[in-house]
Amino acid sequence: MSAENSTQPTVDETSAAQSHAFQAETRQVLHLMIHSLYSNKEIFLRELISNASDALDRLRFAGLQDASLLEAADELHIRIAADQEAGTLTISDNGIGMNHQDVMENIGTIAKSGTRQFLDQLSQDDKNHSQLIGQFGVGFYSAFIVADEVTVLTRKAGEPAGQGVRWSSDGGGEFTIQAEERQQQGTTIILRLKEAEKEFLQTWTLRSLINRYSDHIGFPIQLLQDQDKEDDDSKPEWEQVNKAQALWSLPKNEISDEDYQAFYKSLSHDLNDPLTWAHNKVEGAQSYTTLLYLPKNAPLDLMLQRDERQGVRLYANRVFIMDAAQQLLPHYLRFVRGVVDSQDLPLNVSRELLQENELVGKIRAAVIRRSLDMIARISRDEAETYTEFWKQFGAVLKEGVVEDMANRDRILPLLRFASTHDETAGSQTDLAGYLARMKPGQDAIFYITAEHHTAARNSPHVEVFRRKGIEVLLMSDRVDEWMMSYLHEFEGKSFKSVTKGDIDLGAIGSAEESGEETGATENAVELDADLLARISESLKDHVSAVKSSNRLTDSASCLVLSEDEMALHMQKMLRQAGQQVPESKPTLELNPQHAMVARLADEADDERFAMLAQLLFEQALLSEGGSLPDPAGFVRRINSLMTAAPAEPA
Ligand code: ADP
Ligand code: MG
Repeated sequence: MSAENSTQPTVDETSAAQSHAFQAETRQVLHLMIHSLYSNKEIFLRELISNASDALDRLRFAGLQDASLLEAADELHIRIAADQEAGTLTISDNGIGMNHQDVMENIGTIAKSGTRQFLDQLSQDDKNHSQLIGQFGVGFYSAFIVADEVTVLTRKAGEPAGQGVRWSSDGGGEFTIQAEERQQQGTTIILRLKEAEKEFLQTWTLRSLINRYSDHIGFPIQLLQDQDKEDDDSKPEWEQVNKAQALWSLPKNEISDEDYQAFYKSLSHDLNDPLTWAHNKVEGAQSYTTLLYLPKNAPLDLMLQRDERQGVRLYANRVFIMDAAQQLLPHYLRFVRGVVDSQDLPLNVSRELLQENELVGKIRAAVIRRSLDMIARISRDEAETYTEFWKQFGAVLKEGVVEDMANRDRILPLLRFASTHDETAGSQTDLAGYLARMKPGQDAIFYITAEHHTAARNSPHVEVFRRKGIEVLLMSDRVDEWMMSYLHEFEGKSFKSVTKGDIDLGAIGSAEESGEETGATENAVELDADLLARISESLKDHVSAVKSSNRLTDSASCLVLSEDEMALHMQKMLRQAGQQVPESKPTLELNPQHAMVARLADEADDERFAMLAQLLFEQALLSEGGSLPDPAGFVRRINSLMTAAPAEPA
């Protein structure tokens, strides 16, 4: 029998083999595994070993509550055996195992929320597939990259031998499942290798793969030695091929960079080396070890909800307790990977208890500090590396300015911004650099937020600053506007948006600059009050007031917000996301020296006056990256201007 999308057996589950159709998404994952993952085939071994290791971790953890579970197993291990004649590769563990329901839930369906995204990504780019597998929790299916049939024999620890399960599939649309007597607990996975993948039966291939990918799995990985064919009675000989040590518990001087890197890869399912790491042992009233890594590349789902399993693993005296990224790391450090091992944590600690545990609170504070120190170290010593780091994770780290008041002073020096000081592409400054370049009399750190870097750089609001040589930070990350609404000062200097409130640059630089540059006098040009009133009346639906501007040098007009208003590009973004944004009208500022404004002053015809005023408003809105309320009307107005005023013959 076969039932689409069914996970429940429809006949007595202890009877003969039942067939089930894979859930549609699983089928898609399988299809992609089989047809598009040829570049890093060998990662199937890493994934299956990683699952076996997880199963052993979970048994050891369960054994803390119920010691009989551990007694039933010999020494915990992972075994790998190649059978040349049968063409099979077998990976077994004596870990937690699965019962019928576990198997149905874990390896027939993919319940994880990220699967859809995984599939989309797989079909989009073709480079990092093998990395995605581990990150999205579909590692088991990678067996089908090399096998045309996969059989799982398993029994859950603590359940009777009669409760064993046999699961089997050729990776097509279906799998079969049936009850099967099984003496030992744990899981055995048998891969019938495809004809072209027989190299994975070679002992030396297997050994080198284990060394490369799984050396730092904390349980022995044993490889079956080639047997003498003549001697049928010989006992199987197992050779341990990994170190099976908790890397972090070794003295630092016994750990090579390669060890650290390999451990990172097995921890994170990342194929790249980490950017850097920090390994610390704290001895004292509380003793714990932290080994923390910064990845090179952001995982795909970095900007989304964090996957609990990607992050920091918590151990108590080398016994894996749980993935505890949320307990040990704040959201803004969600890219940090690593291990925390405490000597004082109660072993029976639950996720809920963890939240309230005082020691965990202390460890968390230490993990945050170590992570920020690690980041600060690169920012200080390795400028180029830091640039790479900032590109990948800067926008996430900025969330910390809002999220972590207690560490704000540590976070602010890590921030980098584009700036008018140096506009070569990619050039960035930190806040200390900005302070050092401030002009005499300048008491604020000027910045602008915009949707894109170009919009920030070319904004009319920046014109007067650029001309006077006053630096403006150019911000265009999505989080910037939000961050800046919480960030009011740095080392006693307040932040000021150049798009909000009044700008008075009169006092800045007056001591040393020439009269032309001093600002206070040049803006004496004010527009006629009647003209302003007339424009204001004409635009009353769009703006709250119309003023002469001292911000503009080249542009005719710009829109100015009050200090507590949200930048226009943010308002637009939130509205597009379906959120309520309070209606507010900006102030329109006009450049008294601009030809277009002069032209308006001379316009007697009311209809043409209204059209020109409207255009000044629309220009200002466009240069903010805003969208016009009436784009077709805008085009009509422009066209009517262009046709009404033919160029004078030269
Ligand atoms: P992930 O390991 O990220 O959860 P996988 O696709 O690798 O995703 O495995 C799916 C699930 O199948 C595991 O979460 C686990 O519940 C179960 N599983 C796989 N291999 C084993 C094993 N050797 N022992 C026990 N359970 C296993
Ligand atoms: Mg896995």
